[in-house]
Amino acid sequence: MISNRIREIPFSGIREFFELVQKSKDVVSLGVGEPDFPTPEPLKDAGIRAIENDYTSYTSNYGILELRERIARKLKLKNGIERDPEREILITTGVSEALDLAVRAIVNPGDDVLIPEPAYVSYKPDVWFAHGNPVPVPTTEENKFRVQSEDIKERITKKTKAIIISSPNNPTGAVLRRKDLEEIADLVIDKNLIVISDEIYEELIYDGERHYSIGSLNGMEDLTITLNGFSKAYAFTGWRLGYAAGNSEIIEAMMKIHQYTMLCAPSIAQYAALDAFDLREDVSDMVRSYDLRRKLLVRGLNSLPNISCIMPKGAFYAFPNIRESGMNSEEFARALFKEVGVAVIPGNTFGASGEGYVRCSYSVSRETISEALGRMERFMMSI
Ligand code: PLP
Repeated sequence: MISNRIREIPFSGIREFFELVQKSKDVVSLGVGEPDFPTPEPLKDAGIRAIENDYTSYTSNYGILELRERIARKLKLKNGIERDPEREILITTGVSEALDLAVRAIVNPGDDVLIPEPAYVSYKPDVWFAHGNPVPVPTTEENKFRVQSEDIKERITKKTKAIIISSPNNPTGAVLRRKDLEEIADLVIDKNLIVISDEIYEELIYDGERHYSIGSLNGMEDLTITLNGFSKAYAFTGWRLGYAAGNSEIIEAMMKIHQYTMLCAPSIAQYAALDAFDLREDVSDMVRSYDLRRKLLVRGLNSLPNISCIMPKGAFYAFPNIRESGMNSEEFARALFKEVGVAVIPGNTFGASGEGYVRCSYSVSRETISEALGRMERFMMSI
C-alpha cells in the first residue's frame, strides 16, 4: 500500500527509543528535546484571550499580518535581516513545517543538499520527501563540531542546490562563529547555492557566545531562507509555531505548498505569540537555568570513567564521547537503559559522524541530572 519512497525512509531513531522508554518504569530520561518549563504566563493568557475573543478562524495563508510585522521588527533589530512583512515572511506550523516547505520549494529531483552532521533528524527525510539527495558533511569533536568550509567545498558539485545549517546545533550544541558563517557565505555566493538556516536555538546560548544570522551577511540576503520559531525559547512546542523569512520569490513558493497542505498556522498560537519578543526576562531566566544545568551535567560527565564531553555553547544538549566504553552509540544507549534505567539518544541517530557519542539533554531538573549522573557512574564502573 505504501509508496516506495516512504517505505525506504526509516522511522526516527528518537521515536523508536522513546517507545521503549515509555513502556518502562523507574527511568531517568535525558532523551527529551523540549523545554521542561511551562509556556510563560503572558503567552498562555494571550492564548486564552484569543479563544475568548473567537480568534479561532483560518488566518491569512501567510499568517496574521501583526505577527509578521513583529517578526520583521525582531529580524531587523536582533538579526540584521530586513524583510517585508507582507511578502517575505511566512508563519508556519513550527520550524518543522518551514523546513519541509523550504526544501520542497527549491529542490528538484536529483539535486544534492549538503547537511553538516551530526544534524537534527528531520533534515535528511525532508530532502528525501523532495526527491533530492542529502549529502552529509561530517563535523568533528576536534573542531568543536563546527562545520569547516573546506569540508563543504569538497562536496559541492554541479548537482548541489542548497545547504542546511543549524546554529546552535542539535545534538552537539555547537555555535558557529561569524568567521565560520562568512566562509560558508563565500562558497554559497561563489557557487550560487541557497542556505536554509535553522536558528531555532538562537536564544539558548552561553559563555558569552553570540548568535549570528548568515542571512545578514553581505550578498546573502536573497540566498538565505532564515527559519526560526517559538518552541524552544518560549517553551511553546505544543502550540506549533514557526516562521520563514527570505526573498519574496522563495517565500511565495513556500506559501503555495503551505496553502494547499496546511492552509495556515494555528490561529490561537499566532495571537498568543504576538508579545513573545517582549518577554526578555522570562527567556533569560530560562537560559540562566539551562546554563546551570549544562555545567552540572558536563562537569559530571567528565568526572565519569571513560567518558569525555566538550562544553556545548548553545541549545540544551551535551554530546559526550563514549568510545572508551568499547561500545558503539546504540549498544551504549541500550545497555545504559537496560542496566541503570537512564535514557539517552544514540549519536548515530543524527548521522554517521555522531557514532561514538550519545545525546544527553539538560532540559530536565538538576535533581534529574544528578540522579542520571549517579546511575551512569554505577554503569561505567560496571563495564
Ligand atoms: N530544528 C531543530 C534543530 C530542532 O531541534 C527542532 C526540534 O527539536 C526543530 C527544528 C523543530 O521545531 P518546531 O517545534 O518549531 O517544529
